[in-house]
Amino acid sequence: MIVAGIDIGSRAAKAVIMKDSAVIAATIGDTGPESVKTSYMTINSAMEGTGLSLDDIDYVVATGYGRVLVPFARENISEISCHARGINWYYPSVRTILDMGGQDCKAIRCDAEGHIADFVMNDKCAGGTGRFLEMIADVLGTQLSEIGDLALQSKNAIPFNTICAVFAKTEAIAYLRQGVTRSDILAGLNEAIATRCLNLLKKVSIEKEFTITGGIAKNRGMVAKIAERVGLEPLLAEDPQIIGALGAALFAQERYLGKETRKEAKIQYGYNDGTGDYFITIDLGKCDGCGKCVSACPASVFEVVHEDGREPKAGVAETARKRLSILCPGYRLCSSNHEINCRSVCQHGAISLTW
Ligand code: SF4
Ligand code: SF4
Repeated sequence: MIVAGIDIGSRAAKAVIMKDSAVIAATIGDTGPESVKTSYMTINSAMEGTGLSLDDIDYVVATGYGRVLVPFARENISEISCHARGINWYYPSVRTILDMGGQDCKAIRCDAEGHIADFVMNDKCAGGTGRFLEMIADVLGTQLSEIGDLALQSKNAIPFNTICAVFAKTEAIAYLRQGVTRSDILAGLNEAIATRCLNLLKKVSIEKEFTITGGIAKNRGMVAKIAERVGLEPLLAEDPQIIGALGAALFAQERYLGKETRKEAKIQYGYNDGTGDYFITIDLGKCDGCGKCVSACPASVFEVVHEDGREPKAGVAETARKRLSILCPGYRLCSSNHEINCRSVCQHGAISLTW
């Protein structure tokens, strides 16, 4: 059994391939402007040297910001669930996760099986995200990979009034002009970010065993400040950046082996049109495979698939996935032109369409 998890994040794309429950390959690359292209490049890079082709992989689960745009994924699952599942594989004792990604920051509480108990997300402000640190590295004229160690050299962290990206940049430039060292500026920023992380973590309650996942967990200066603020040393995975992809691979393994879980799953397909994310969600637990959505959709978006002796279930047809933004204009527009549509004919309420 060979499965894969692919995590298309806002800044980095990651993939993990597992064979018979062991990780055999992993990769991290940049997320390009086109998620579909990025997803192929990422999985191809992970397969390099393994002798595998995409056809050899039995089940792929996608996660992350661009998860709905991975054409070869059989399913997509939120990054919150995948991070919890991935870290549970490393450290089953972990109950609190701080996921510091490229564009948002999440505090997650999970149970002993890696299921979500609670989570809170900060996606309104860039402070404490990869994007924010890239901007700061740029202002300070240093490499992103160097800022963690640079901050650790600080003797006198400068207090920052804000970590709002715009104001923090102005403050950092002002300090630089006053001759403050880059390490003191970075340490001050890390302190402000760590305080914000602590407040986020408090919302889900901090349990003793905690971890940090995401690319920022590789920043030693930031991790040290968070550990100091939280008062606990985080348990860090070997590579905290691939935890989401690892969780997706573990879900893929579970889906491939177990039919029950899949029946309860919800599958999402969608696109981003610049104004927001549009999702067509199919609740497989409710879908009986009647096929009414297939004949009702004027754009031939759906198909009903009979897989490996499993119950027939609806899904967005392979051929429609890449063109979904052209085919499906959203429920409101569709229902104003077509009295009969996917949602009106689905007697079990298995389809939801959301922006
Ligand atoms: S109409 Fe509803 S129940 Fe029937 S196949 Fe489509 S999603 Fe499933
Ligand atoms: S909203 Fe309309 S176009 Fe979109 S999937 Fe449903 S029936 Fe098809």
